Amino acid sequence: MTASRFDIPTLQRMDAEHHLHPFCDNAALAKQGTRIITRAEGVYVWDAEGNKLLDAFAGLWCVNVGYGRQELVEAAARQMRELPYYNSFFQCTSQPTIELAELITSLAPDNITHAFFTGSGSEANDTILRMVRHFWSVQDRPEKFNVIGRYNGYHGSTVAGASLGGMPAMHKQGGLPIPGIYHINQPYWFEYGGDLSPDDFGLQRARELEEKILELDPETVAAFIAEPIQGAGGVIIPPASYWPEIQRICRKYDVLLIVDEVICGFGRTGKWFGCDFFDIQPDIMPVAKGISSGYLPIGAVMFSERIAGVLKEKGGELAHGYTYSGHPVCAAVALENIRILQREHIVESVDTDTGPYLQKRWLQLAEHPLVGEARIAGFIGAIELAPNKPERRFFADPGTVGAMCRDFALANGLILRATRDSMLLSPPLVMTHAQIDELIEKTHKSLDQTWDAVKART
Ligand SMILES: *Cc1c(COP(=O)(O)O)cnc(C)c1O
Repeated sequence: MTASRFDIPTLQRMDAEHHLHPFCDNAALAKQGTRIITRAEGVYVWDAEGNKLLDAFAGLWCVNVGYGRQELVEAAARQMRELPYYNSFFQCTSQPTIELAELITSLAPDNITHAFFTGSGSEANDTILRMVRHFWSVQDRPEKFNVIGRYNGYHGSTVAGASLGGMPAMHKQGGLPIPGIYHINQPYWFEYGGDLSPDDFGLQRARELEEKILELDPETVAAFIAEPIQGAGGVIIPPASYWPEIQRICRKYDVLLIVDEVICGFGRTGKWFGCDFFDIQPDIMPVAKGISSGYLPIGAVMFSERIAGVLKEKGGELAHGYTYSGHPVCAAVALENIRILQREHIVESVDTDTGPYLQKRWLQLAEHPLVGEARIAGFIGAIELAPNKPERRFFADPGTVGAMCRDFALANGLILRATRDSMLLSPPLVMTHAQIDELIEKTHKSLDQTWDAVKART
């Protein structure tokens, strides 16, 4: 390997001494030394040591159009020269912000007509918690205050986001969840389905929502929030029976349906949004990640006409907003990003060409002795590493085998994420057939190496 132009030991020492990393065991990292990523192109990233890695995780579920898009660089530079910043408070805004609101609502289901801009998905969910309570309150129903989420759901890391989510490790840090937020069980058939068929199990889990609404009293329940497909929780794709039943229950009790599209939005499932994939009509959709392919931070909350109408007519002055709500440069980049998705028919390709090919190849991994289940929708999937396939049993030391497989993959030049013992897949939506072949070959090799190591342990 050629000498690196980066002084890696110095950078790692500075990092260990001054940088606290998110979602990381910082003591362990300080000993090991961080991996410094230095450049990227298409579906590949390079680290400071010069290793080329196939990024099968699209950064963090977000680089939908791939790396190195000069159109996005130019859109940002153009907007920065003309107007680098202005706010959307006090009856002002900027042209790209207006155009982005129009464009994303035109792509969303018909009932969705308004967008409120944020800097991230977490901020979007914080906005939502306040807005749903405000929505009911201004209609003289302030007791409609409670929000129901799901265990192992992920809605971001701010106080409201982490409370709406159902991650025990997150709730433990900082005294969460905050009051008025409740959780039901997730539609995770592989772990909890037992002898039920996936569809029977999906119905059973959906009906937990009705039980929880009745337990709390429908007059006190403002909304239900869920990801179409759970991402951070381990790419859990609900059985087909699940979402229609959830929607029916929400309508029956006039509980607002919040579908968290932060990962599924902008093409991940081969449809523009996860709610299109499952054919449901949410009242509210938070989006982020793929909206700008991660090139700049931006998120949004998309509201139905019913909600936006009430907020406008009865809401008075909205006592809520962020300095960077509708940031013109972020909006310009998001606009161009969506235009690339449209111009290059990327979402259609995931739906009808590269997606079906990836699905076929990915599902074949289920034949590997280490794989308990392979699942995938569009360009988002997982393989569940399990010691006993028919019984869908887990390893006794959850997380160890997954981490082993992730490390083998890295050594093989492949970035996959491990959550517990699930290997998660979420590649850039521009991945080609040849790159899919490379992905599958490297995954297979990593599984073989992990399987050998697992057998050697026992
Ligand atoms: C990533 C994510 C969020 C949080 O978005 P940030 O931009 O990290 O704040 C919210 N919801 C879902 C489903 C996510 O995957």
